[in-house]
Amino acid sequence: MALIASEVRTMRDLPFRLADCGAPAVGRIEIYSDLLTESLDGVAYVCRTHPEAAARAITAAGLTASMSWNLPPGVVRMCGHVHLFPTGMWGADDRHPRWCDRHDCAQRGEHRSRTSEINTSRPEAYLVAVALVQAGHAAAEPVVVLNATDDTGGAQVVLSIGQVRALRYRLGRSLDAAGRSRR
Ligand SMILES: [Zn+2]
Ligand SMILES: [Zn+2]
Repeated sequence: MALIASEVRTMRDLPFRLADCGAPAVGRIEIYSDLLTESLDGVAYVCRTHPEAAARAITAAGLTASMSWNLPPGVVRMCGHVHLFPTGMWGADDRHPRWCDRHDCAQRGEHRSRTSEINTSRPEAYLVAVALVQAGHAAAEPVVVLNATDDTGGAQVVLSIGQVRALRYRLGRSLDAAGRSRR
């Protein structure tokens, strides 16, 4: 992944503290604040002794931590270093919703999150992808755009946040029912 320049922020701005260790990092922890949009907000670097402590501190702050031992080639960081993405929650910009990918919003006339593909790691009839979208004008509300595609074409459904909330509840009930009938 290409690292883009981040604003320099002090650790005091972050909702978690990492050990001020200074040993060379051998792994990185991706920090996500929002599971729906899978917003990658930062990367914390860790030495061999501190991955668990760092992940604990990050998850205790209500964030999701994803550990990886592969540092990009040529990347040298100290344990405890946190790289913040300007598109993430700590690089907030009043002109865009926090989840916006900040690409060509003015040109498109709308803000869009990155698209998440719903991946079950097995073949499915449809490829389903979901994104948050919001029209550019001030009073616009975000909507969830669901795309389903197969070999013959695709269809798009636009859902209000209220519908998504009701759908989440309904899907949860369906999952529970499907689980019960399988036993
Ligand atoms: Zn360390
Ligand atoms: Zn935007």
